[in-house]
Amino acid sequence: MLKTTLAGSLPKPAWLADPHHQLFAPWVPPADRLGEAQDDAVRLALLDQEEAGLDIVSDGEQRRRHYIWGFLDGLTGTDTKQLGKKRTRGGKYVAEQDVARIVGEVTWPGPVMGAALAFAKAHTRRAVKVALPGPMTMVDTTLDEYYRCDEESLAMRFAGVLNAEARALAAAGADVIQFDEPCFNIYLDKVKTWGIRALEVAIAGVHCTTAIHICYSYGIPRVLAWKRRNTEWGQYGVTLPLLRDTRIDQISVECAASGVDVAVLEGARGKDVLLGVIDVGTEEIESPELVATRIRKALPYVDPGHLFPCTDCGLVPRTRPAARAKLRALVEGARLVRRELGA
Ligand code: ZN
Repeated sequence: MLKTTLAGSLPKPAWLADPHHQLFAPWVPPADRLGEAQDDAVRLALLDQEEAGLDIVSDGEQRRRHYIWGFLDGLTGTDTKQLGKKRTRGGKYVAEQDVARIVGEVTWPGPVMGAALAFAKAHTRRAVKVALPGPMTMVDTTLDEYYRCDEESLAMRFAGVLNAEARALAAAGADVIQFDEPCFNIYLDKVKTWGIRALEVAIAGVHCTTAIHICYSYGIPRVLAWKRRNTEWGQYGVTLPLLRDTRIDQISVECAASGVDVAVLEGARGKDVLLGVIDVGTEEIESPELVATRIRKALPYVDPGHLFPCTDCGLVPRTRPAARAKLRALVEGARLVRRELGA
């Protein structure tokens, strides 16, 4: 019980990505040396997670500049170089954002993350999680200049290619495949009308553990400013009961830095809950006792066998020492509560 994991990303070494950018940092090595540098960074990311004692690890997303572009680059019909402008996330965090463009027929030529998964699995004995963007978040974060169709149709198209990728990754030994859907916290009406259905298409026939990560975005200044102003934290109260009726196995929620009342987790009873107990928006390190307190608060609503202490979101904007210390605190805090529960 209380197996520990992370939402996905870890900070990149300064020799891999320019440390002056919190997100989407440009690569430092030239193209002909990038692959080897990424391999080295993945080995270090795995080592950091193993040293901290995490049960379910990831490659720290060391191979992608952006959590959506990394997947789009492997498809046809996408352009992540010449970006477009778009109002995304309901204009919540920023008025407009640079987004990738859809410029042709979107198809899946073959596994996008297959080689990355094989490398990670060859360098750890722990269970490996792979994160993919969710269909709704892909729609929100791309400018469609080709199909010019409604969002639902585009989401179903993305769900189809995500499903092909997820099936291939599961067959190649991924232990967990996670879909990142921060938009499920923003467009509640769309979640009901087509978001859940698109997710179900994406996970159909995927023979490994499936997860959805729903957060309130990255721990960066403009998002933190929005969180300080925000007073409406009832979104999970809507989405979790809808997700309970799907065949998704795990739901990753942000509970450390948000104003979410953990009582909403009752709505996900029966599912695995990846409980965010690590704030990814600050360099301040949680004490194991604080982590344990956050875990204990969820115990009335989530059975310990279904509870996975986790980070709120990706740790990519943090420094590497802070990220390592936060992972250690996560594991120590879980250990404290496990001991109390007699495990
Ligand atoms: Zn997140």
